[in-house]
Amino acid sequence: MEKIRTRYAPSPTGKMHVGNLRSALYEYLVAKHEGGVFMLRIEDTDQERYVEGATDIIYRTLEATGLKHDEGPDKDGGYGPYVQSERMKTGIYMKYAKELIEKGEAYYCFCDKERLASLKTQVTEDEDGEGKTITIYDKHCLGLSKEEVEANLAAGKPFVIRQNIPNEGTTTFHDELYGDITVENSELDDMILIKSDGYPTYNFANVVDDHTMNITHVVRGNEYLSSSPKYVRLYDAFGWKVPVYIHLPLITDENHKKLSKRSGHSSFEDLIEQGFVTEAIVNYVALLGWSPEDNNEIFSLDELVKKFDYHRINKSPAVFDIVKLRWMNGEYIKAMDDDKFYEMAKPYLDKSLPADYDEAKRRKVAGMVKTRIEVFPDIEGHVDFLRALPDYDIEMYTHKKMKTDAASSLSVLQDVLPILEKATDYTNDALYQTLLKYIEEKGYKNGFVMWPIRTALSGKQMTPAGATEILELLGKEESLKRIRKGIEMLSV
Ligand code: GLU
Repeated sequence: MEKIRTRYAPSPTGKMHVGNLRSALYEYLVAKHEGGVFMLRIEDTDQERYVEGATDIIYRTLEATGLKHDEGPDKDGGYGPYVQSERMKTGIYMKYAKELIEKGEAYYCFCDKERLASLKTQVTEDEDGEGKTITIYDKHCLGLSKEEVEANLAAGKPFVIRQNIPNEGTTTFHDELYGDITVENSELDDMILIKSDGYPTYNFANVVDDHTMNITHVVRGNEYLSSSPKYVRLYDAFGWKVPVYIHLPLITDENHKKLSKRSGHSSFEDLIEQGFVTEAIVNYVALLGWSPEDNNEIFSLDELVKKFDYHRINKSPAVFDIVKLRWMNGEYIKAMDDDKFYEMAKPYLDKSLPADYDEAKRRKVAGMVKTRIEVFPDIEGHVDFLRALPDYDIEMYTHKKMKTDAASSLSVLQDVLPILEKATDYTNDALYQTLLKYIEEKGYKNGFVMWPIRTALSGKQMTPAGATEILELLGKEESLKRIRKGIEMLSV
């Protein structure tokens, strides 16, 4: 069996969108599942869409996510150059375009913008159900004689090279997910292969490159499905073997609209900025269109490599569910080792804890919140009360299960204030023992005493720590201040 070779072929046009990341991941998994080669090719032939720095984002993201390419611009594997603008300089696209012209499968077109604009346009629906206008070229220049073409070329007239698709008949191709697809040739436009600036279009370059770089499996978004018959015609014209096509389902947002920048979490960088963990993002993205045989959903990249069978990719649209990603991220955070967690939590702790907390204290707080958050920015909401007591309502002292109300809380706080004033050892254990003594003397239940103390200290229904842990964190002075404030609030 031939060795599987896949390629991730991004255009350097900006951020790494979730859809791009999924293509890269699936290309990687298809290759690695079979011990194959995963290649990176930079598709920069559309100079108008080129964004400075976008190539760095591609490298950084592949590195961060562990999708290591075996070949690419920075790793020669004998199939270079790996950047299309550099490939162009070798003359490869023009050479093959001319070969097609020889075969009658392509032709020079000298039509100017005005003439093209006057051609009839057709409105179709794209996969979003949105209207899309296309112009079907009328083959005007196919009628030029050889002499006319040569005269135009000699005169330096700007030209493009177009694919020549017959008006009759059909074209059939196979996609692993969608099966056999047959289209009427009359619906296929004579697409441009070489642009007037001499660059190949993506439509041409992807075919030439996938063939000459020995690519066996092409995994990409299904926005390319409708152009694939034209690509297959090119493969046939050259007598080349068509790679295995795997067109991935659309990714939608919660409203079943195509995931877009508006959703706020459409790119890898957005998600990292929002406090998601790289491994969780990769794990979640793997499930956007693919599911394993069992119900397990948590997979490391290595496990994905073992499990990933592309025959299990589903063609129905995949919904990007941020709630589920948050849950999954929380699972990754819980499983993280404490040091790594602390390092990642640190910027958020620094932002929300009192400035004078030393590292030991920060680590302690980190340990308290680790199992309670889904994304790192959640930390703030859990710990900000340590920096400043929030405004709270005295209703909060009333708790049915703890059997507390405003009056019982006032009396408990008044009792414990002198005890806490006298205490000198402000550590969790010592304070707990001290309060336990009071609780036992009074014959109270723990919660009956701890609830009002915790409320006075935090002003919150939920805290990542119990009353005595909070006493320790706040220290004597601040704790007493807050208990007194509680007493004051309850006394009016
Ligand atoms: N350059 C194309 C893109 O970024 C790649 C499509 C493909 O994988 O063939 O969408």
